Amino acid sequence: MKPLLPLEEAQERLIAMAQPLPSETIAIGDALGRYLAEDVMAGRDQPAADMSAMDGYAIRFEDRDGPWQLVGECKAGSPPCPAILPGQAARIFTGALLPEGADTVVMQENVEPDGDNIVLTSDPSPVKGRHVRFQGGDFKSGDVSLKAGIQLNAAALGHAVIAGSGSVSVGRRPKVAILSTGDELVAPGTDTKPHQIPASNDVMIAAMLSQLPTITRCISRIKDDLDSLCEALESARDCDVIVTIGGASVGDHDLVAPAFKRLGGQTDFWKIAMKPGKPLMAGKLGNSLVLALPGNPGSAFVTATLFLVPLIRYLAGAQSYMPVMQTAQTSTVLPATSQRAEFLRAQLVDGAIAAFDSQDSAKLSILAAANALLFRPPHSPEQPVGAEVSYIAI
Ligand code: AMP
Ligand code: MG
Repeated sequence: MKPLLPLEEAQERLIAMAQPLPSETIAIGDALGRYLAEDVMAGRDQPAADMSAMDGYAIRFEDRDGPWQLVGECKAGSPPCPAILPGQAARIFTGALLPEGADTVVMQENVEPDGDNIVLTSDPSPVKGRHVRFQGGDFKSGDVSLKAGIQLNAAALGHAVIAGSGSVSVGRRPKVAILSTGDELVAPGTDTKPHQIPASNDVMIAAMLSQLPTITRCISRIKDDLDSLCEALESARDCDVIVTIGGASVGDHDLVAPAFKRLGGQTDFWKIAMKPGKPLMAGKLGNSLVLALPGNPGSAFVTATLFLVPLIRYLAGAQSYMPVMQTAQTSTVLPATSQRAEFLRAQLVDGAIAAFDSQDSAKLSILAAANALLFRPPHSPEQPVGAEVSYIAI
């Protein structure tokens, strides 16, 4: 029997089959969740000039003890108000430019009027530069604001805008087709006969992809029939990635591989040393990458986490695309493993991780209750309670 392909090797081979998609320039407001294709360089200093961080009075530090003659008013959104001379102060508001001559702001709470003047009411005396945001204090024109390959979150979008960008260059979104197969599958919410089940994987896998930049199309509940499967695969050939769910094993009704072969698909690997998820297959059909996930929900979820999600991130331009492994202490004894890496559905509570007793990959109740996949490397001895283990948060 052919040895199973080690998990890491399979992951590397999948990425080696792919290439990041070309970039496109889009409006910054549409770029949430996309991966930057190029560094964003600041096109301006921020702040563009020295400005007040407070509502108060702009003064010269040499005059820090007051009193001050009040001249002028500086508001945000106005060009700088006239210069102040020794002994003078200007009323100033948050975000307003400092008038020439001023280098310090006294908070309005710390002064009070005294005739035409204002006087200091509370110690300590102002510190030079206090409550001033100096030109370029956040970043300077030409600085790299955001690095290529990062995923744009809300704060990064804000940063790009303040750096002067109205649009950004990002990786194109992969087009993904999700094909589910099985005569037993019926649409969500329909009455089922005992020999039928609702097609849960389609919604689950689409939901995993909805958190990534993709354009996803579902071709659900294809019959276990070679012609139907070939037709569905053909109809998805415009996609960058075709994900099939179910029918990936070697049973008489597991028709993904035969259909893929009939259409001229090239298998890259099949059968991975992992549990669940052994029957995973990857290959190419024309320009489309094909990833065939096993049908059991636990297996589909684990293989999607370890293969599909990283592949989509990579195609979309992510710099770091593999699942992040963290560590915790196991609160249950973990049996020794065979040559297959294992991903146990587990619950992480207060830094301790507990694998569920049942690891039946058909049980969605366990998958839905899990918040972590506990990783057991191949050929690992039994682990006692308290041993440090790795996991992927889900
Ligand atoms: P298969 O990989 O086709 O042999 O399917 C393995 C198990 O997963 C069977 O019990 C199927 O009924 C179930 N299954 C396959 N596809 C889906 C799906 N889209 N949603 C829920 N269960 C599925
Ligand atoms: Mg099936």
